Amino acid sequence: MNELLISHYVLKTKVLGPYERSAIWVSGCCFDCDGCIAKEMNNQEATRIDVTSLVKVFTDANTEGITISGGEPFLQARALTGLVQNIRKNRDYGVIVYTGFDYKELLQTDDKDRKDFLREIDILIDGKYIKDKDDGLPYRGSSNQKIRLLTKRYKEEYNSYYMSGDKRNIEINVEPNHIYMVGVPSEYGLKTWRELKKRAEINGQ
Ligand code: SF4
Repeated sequence: MNELLISHYVLKTKVLGPYERSAIWVSGCCFDCDGCIAKEMNNQEATRIDVTSLVKVFTDANTEGITISGGEPFLQARALTGLVQNIRKNRDYGVIVYTGFDYKELLQTDDKDRKDFLREIDILIDGKYIKDKDDGLPYRGSSNQKIRLLTKRYKEEYNSYYMSGDKRNIEINVEPNHIYMVGVPSEYGLKTWRELKKRAEINGQ
């Protein structure tokens, strides 16, 4: 296995898919969506991390699965496939991925690494963020992005979790030297987060 370039990860969250799950944000994106909330994160210095160590971290976290976001996960498809396949050697593990690529585009790709990664995914939320189509619906940034069940794993949860929520939720994670926002924020949530972050920076976090 090799390395991943990441912004950060959290061991447990409840706002990025059904059940308590881990989440990781890879660093770097090939798109440039106007209004992208990950831009600041992608411009910060990334962490290079050994995939083997992440396999242990996420296996030990004992969550139902992981949500992978970014940045653009398909730019690091090979390492992410390694991550997921190796966690799955030890446990039954659900995988949700946010990507700026369209699903159709991914289905037609000749890139073996991307094809392999696509096969590991239970739910794909695809498409670039389009500011004018940001309708405030939960779990995605804009209405062109679709929540796609690629396997049967979350069939039951699709309606109860994804279709019943009517608002966006975020969590704020405070660590000794950093604070992170987790989830897809509403306009109000984003504003609140930016104010909190500004205050934290003033206080040296
Ligand atoms: S695809 Fe996602 S991370 Fe990349 S620029 Fe668009 S919103 Fe940002």
